[in-house]
Amino acid sequence: MSFTSLGLSEPILKAVAEQGYETPSPIQAQAIPAVISGRDVMAAAQTGTGKTAGFTLPLLERLIKGNRVQSNNVRALVLTPTRELAAQVNESIETYSKYVNLNATVVFGGVKINPQMMRLRQGVDVLVATPGRLLDLYNQNAVKFSQLEVLVLDEADRMLDMGFLRDIKKILALLPQQRQNLLFSATFSADIRALAKGLVNKPLEISV
Ligand code: AMP
Repeated sequence: MSFTSLGLSEPILKAVAEQGYETPSPIQAQAIPAVISGRDVMAAAQTGTGKTAGFTLPLLERLIKGNRVQSNNVRALVLTPTRELAAQVNESIETYSKYVNLNATVVFGGVKINPQMMRLRQGVDVLVATPGRLLDLYNQNAVKFSQLEVLVLDEADRMLDMGFLRDIKKILALLPQQRQNLLFSATFSADIRALAKGLVNKPLEISV
């Protein structure tokens, strides 16, 4: 099994090769083709399994095709529980999108909101965000979701543990109905299953 058989384009494969990755991890082998095909995915995967590349690589592949992002719009939204994870996911996206013409940015609380508002003005293909700050930005009209194509919840169990369920529900209510949903969680608890019920549509379930 190699990355070339998963449906990724040349510029993305080049960035992957530069990272020195030779073989897709099990979650990558399963998630990448499914996400490229447009399917919803629900994956139980811990940190260290390669889950980040498992969703960011096919996300970028999807976004290469499709419309240019308009001002203040977002085409893909990745929600994470913490600033640290948000920054890490954004860094991965920047690494893997080195040879494609897509832009990514990250927003989280605890820092000034104005520079984030400025960065959103031009529109962003991939926005990585923590839930509270995203809602603040929305309430200040800095972000619009009419072009949103893909939603990713990363470490969804941690988001619930940290009390983000209300914010997540508020965010879901703002998004277009027609979209692809990817749900990543260390475990599939009853709470995660309940969240998934209102979120994913005929998902591919992956457990690694
Ligand atoms: P993650 O589980 O997403 O936090 O990734 C764990 C680590 O594995 C990161 O440092 C990645 O750079 C690395 N990694 C991801 N996919 C691969 C791969 N296919 N081969 C080798 N290393 C990888």
